[in-house]
Amino acid sequence: MKVLVINTGSSSLKYQLIDMNNEKVLAKGLCDRIGLDGSFIKQTINSCNEFKKETKLNNHNEAIMETISLLTDSGIIKSMDEITAVGHRVVHGGEKFCKSALIDEEVIKAIEECIILAPLHNGPNMVGIKACREILPNVPMVAVFDTAFHQTMPDKAFIYALPYSFYQEKGIRRYGFHGTSHKYVAQRAAVVLNKQFNTLKIVTCHLGNGSSICAVKNGAAVDTSMGYTPLDGVAMGTRCGSIDPAIVTGLIEHDNYNAAMLNDLLNKKSGVLGISGISSDFRDLDEAAKKGCERAELALNVFSYQVKKYIGAYAAAMGGIDALVFTAGIGENNSDIRKRIVEGMEFVGIEIDDEKNQARGIEIDVSKPNAKVKTLIIPTNEELAIARETVSLLNNFKHDSADKSYFCEKERVH
Ligand code: ADP
Repeated sequence: MKVLVINTGSSSLKYQLIDMNNEKVLAKGLCDRIGLDGSFIKQTINSCNEFKKETKLNNHNEAIMETISLLTDSGIIKSMDEITAVGHRVVHGGEKFCKSALIDEEVIKAIEECIILAPLHNGPNMVGIKACREILPNVPMVAVFDTAFHQTMPDKAFIYALPYSFYQEKGIRRYGFHGTSHKYVAQRAAVVLNKQFNTLKIVTCHLGNGSSICAVKNGAAVDTSMGYTPLDGVAMGTRCGSIDPAIVTGLIEHDNYNAAMLNDLLNKKSGVLGISGISSDFRDLDEAAKKGCERAELALNVFSYQVKKYIGAYAAAMGGIDALVFTAGIGENNSDIRKRIVEGMEFVGIEIDDEKNQARGIEIDVSKPNAKVKTLIIPTNEELAIARETVSLLNNFKHDSADKSYFCEKERVH
């Protein structure tokens, strides 16, 4: 069974073809600059063998056609009939989806209704889904949502202290993102610890260009740091994370900032880039800090301190913590940041072994032998998680074709 995983952006389309019999990635690739000058497709087979072709990709339909041609031309599949199913990453499922969903007209309509919540993401995701359905009309497709895992949060965690009508009428609430990753690494943590997932209190730290923290209690998300949008929470590469909202109104009142300028400032010029003035990439910041750059050092400290505070907060929210998980680019590779984050947290039982903590990009328990809390590095794999969800949903569907349990039981907005 071969599953094609698709992640569509406004001018890009990333894909992986995964053989689900052995979970091997047969090929992965990227169509970029779709609809722009200089569009191209590149593909890697068996993690090496990279091929790049500059070709006109006028729209996402052409990108998908090109992807399938490349998969067949390179001999990875004989024809598109070998693609058993397609798993689509969809950023926002709003309050409509609490799980992944088998795509049909009703699901498409519901995803379209979520576009208003994430126009920059859901719009392109929808274009990708429609293009795929046109080209592969008989292939079942599944939508896997970044928000779905967080739908178990209680209202005390997701309601902002604004007039309640803003939630009721506009859907303004915390949704949370990176859900596919948080769920994947939290479930892996249970496997690594040889414990039942639904008995554990886990804090997962997805630390990459975008970063978010999630509290997972007894197998369900109970809180998360990103909010109505992925701008909330900890400081990130270029995003500011949580700041006093009066800063925003002040910039409008006194400095003539408008919405576009604010979006640019808060999303692209802030975070560790804004603090350091050097880079959004933690490798550059590490290097600069080692050479004595004080603002790079400050940026690393601000980031680590904010993550530390979330871990403490979520331990309090869950009434304890059994495992702490680090994942994504920084979480998996940056031993210095992990060390800064957990420093001084012995009082909750978090203690890491400096030598084990030097590990990069591998699944490993880095806690001291007697630490009460297990600290784990678990590489995330969102594409595999999407492919697994796709297979699992198709199998369930075979047994109960009427199962629509991915729609949230009740829409809470009323
Ligand atoms: P994205 O959110 O775009 O998927 P990543 O998860 O790749 O981002 O995270 C990007 C960050 O992770 C960068 O700040 C970079 O410094 C760090 N990072 C990624 N890969 C490595 C690596 N192999 N070694 C050290 N740091 C890395």
